[in-house]
Amino acid sequence: MDKSKRSAVIAGNWKMNKTPSEAKALLNELAPMVKDADCEVIACVPFVDLTAALEATEGTNIKIGAENCHWEESGAFTGEISPKMLAEMGVPYVVLGHSERRQYFGETDETVNKRTKAALKAGLKPIVCVGELLWERECDITEEVIARQIKLDLFDVSAEDVKKTIIAYEPVWAIGTGKTATADQAQEVCGFIRATLAKLYGQDVADAVTIQYGGSMNADNCEELLAKPDVDGGLIGGASLVAAKFQPIVAAASK
Ligand code: PEP
Repeated sequence: MDKSKRSAVIAGNWKMNKTPSEAKALLNELAPMVKDADCEVIACVPFVDLTAALEATEGTNIKIGAENCHWEESGAFTGEISPKMLAEMGVPYVVLGHSERRQYFGETDETVNKRTKAALKAGLKPIVCVGELLWERECDITEEVIARQIKLDLFDVSAEDVKKTIIAYEPVWAIGTGKTATADQAQEVCGFIRATLAKLYGQDVADAVTIQYGGSMNADNCEELLAKPDVDGGLIGGASLVAAKFQPIVAAASK
């Protein structure tokens, strides 16, 4: 598989961590460490950190993302943030459908689909998360679950827009648990995601889509995971909160 057709992308997902001043300090520390990266480097941060994060990364190669957005441009949706708001701030990326949003906040494939289309319409690049529960893997339905999520989450998304979308394969049982999928397991599902995209959009489009692995990726396991032909990067939770733990993953993706 020719990986040169797509970008390698290492993205941190900070979740509900770091105040604005802590965000600034972490990004100031990280920026010189990743300045020569030969991959895209993204930090997805809490909404209240976005201004500080954009300021701290100005003139660096670190891009900023949000961790969610609503599907409407504006309206009576107390507590929500619209894609238009993010776009006007100059935020280029947004994580959508993370398993924690699905698990704790009632996110469904239907709402992930609405958010994805709205984000793309506003000019944002979505990082759409999919992944099976442990129970689903044990029942041997991982591929059914992933195919369903890909089809529903990307319903009505054009081929041009899919090329702007990053898919993050995050087995739910591997997120924040210290249990990583083996490199072969990650490759198997990332390859399946690409095959599913090829059926929906054709091989050329599928080959252009960046597919990340996420789930306890760290300095020790990243090289093996990132060496796999369909693993184009990583979505990193815990290890993105410490510059010295995130930098080796960026370095491995730059090889
Ligand atoms: C995540 O939150 O997307 C994630 C992969 O977390 P962790 O790296 O901590 O497992």
